[in-house]
Amino acid sequence: MADGQAVSQTILVVGGGMSGLTTAVEAAEVGYDVILVEKKPYFGGRAAQLNKYFPKLCTPSCGLEINFQRIRNNPRISYFTMAEVEEVTGTEGNFTARIRQNPRFVNEKCTACGDCARACETEVEDPFNFGLGRAKAIRNASAISYPNRFFMDAEFAKSEEAKRLVSVCPVGAIEPDMEANTVDIPVSSIVWSTGWTPYDASKITAYGFGRFENVTTNMRFERLSHKYGPTGGKIIRPDGKAVQNIAFIQCAGSRDHNYLPFCSRICCLASMKQTTYVRAQYPDANITIYYIDLRAMDRYEGFQKRIEEDEKIRWIKSKPARIDEDPVTKDPIVIGEDTLTGIRFSEAYDMVVLATGMEPNTASSRVPVPGVEYDEYGFVTGSAGGVFASGCSTGPLDVASSVQAGTAAALKAIQTVAKARG
Ligand SMILES: Cc1cc2nc3c(=O)[nH]c(=O)nc-3n(C[C@H](O)[C@H](O)[C@H](O)COP(=O)(O)OP(=O)(O)OC[C@H]3O[C@@H](n4cnc5c(N)ncnc54)[C@H](O)[C@@H]3O)c2cc1C
Repeated sequence: MADGQAVSQTILVVGGGMSGLTTAVEAAEVGYDVILVEKKPYFGGRAAQLNKYFPKLCTPSCGLEINFQRIRNNPRISYFTMAEVEEVTGTEGNFTARIRQNPRFVNEKCTACGDCARACETEVEDPFNFGLGRAKAIRNASAISYPNRFFMDAEFAKSEEAKRLVSVCPVGAIEPDMEANTVDIPVSSIVWSTGWTPYDASKITAYGFGRFENVTTNMRFERLSHKYGPTGGKIIRPDGKAVQNIAFIQCAGSRDHNYLPFCSRICCLASMKQTTYVRAQYPDANITIYYIDLRAMDRYEGFQKRIEEDEKIRWIKSKPARIDEDPVTKDPIVIGEDTLTGIRFSEAYDMVVLATGMEPNTASSRVPVPGVEYDEYGFVTGSAGGVFASGCSTGPLDVASSVQAGTAAALKAIQTVAKARG
């Protein structure tokens, strides 16, 4: 079904990452109507930005594409992208959700041919690649985006160039005058799956992210390694230098009362996974992992063992004190003390990757329903009547657990609908 085409009821799913997508398709496939609301122009959430998934190291497009197919084929699912739930009124079984549809400036006629992006001269910072590289002001977020439809940046839509692009589109899809609108939709239950945001590494001032060009973050590293990323998947520095000597710093800002006090559970596994990206491109690279203690949560010890077989990975038990930069080579220099030996180190690398944690989006943007409970970090801990949270809205989870949580939330939502129907 198309953007904005609403059905009369029944389950509202907010957030189209792995968890929300799962809730939507599971509920729809057993006969319930679903409205899926996603803030970004595309579905898939953070998983869509990953290069590969641990533990199998398959590409996220596999898992995502199956869900996109299920959405495409199910007339019970209506969706809104670039949309948000502004307000919810009513009670369990009888809510009204006010949905704000932000303008995409490209209508449903778009075939994603790319003529507009080729003709567009304006480039902007690319949020999909976390600011690595530039993107056209009219674009698709990535080559595997769903819906496969372009969008235009709101600021750019006001420009003369945006108006000129209207005539470039062979199917008349570009509408720089498109406006936001709101729609009120009755729903019986609500599943909130708005996921997570990477912790802002520039807050960890001792590590120099944002000041030192070769200090990066784990999510940036996913994009740097991705074949549709800013370097076409080549792991290189901004100056083009190969990365033969790389360090990963675990718990960068995590488990630290100055920053993010909790453990994000997946960062150790994500860094282990990222060592395989390095190894695939640089068979002789030296890799160092600085860690407090390694956490291969759930049943991932086997994955850790596989990574430990790589003899060119050095594991140093330490939370480095700071990173400096060599002013000539621009190499980051990691400074600290090995906790096991007590020996101080100061080592230069081609690149340092900070394994930063996951902050819930509900920390800054709450569920607009009274009675929902949160922990001190903003994760949802308790549901209100007919309103349930799922996926990383409830805690830092891997994809498999997010999918399980999405399925469980579908059942909860279905029970509410069934109760309301009597
Ligand atoms: C560096 C790194 C690597 C990782 N690698 C792996 C891996 O290899 N394997 C693995 O299993 N897990 C991995 N993970 C974890 C994985 O990213 C999460 O499990 C997954 O993203 C959780 O999905 P989610 O749907 O809960 O949240 P998200 O992926 O965050 O999706 C939430 C969705 O909600 C949308 N949204 C946000 N706010 C609103 C709003 N107000 N209204 C509407 N929509 C909204 C967002 O745009 C997004 O689409 C990794 C995590 C990190 C940090």
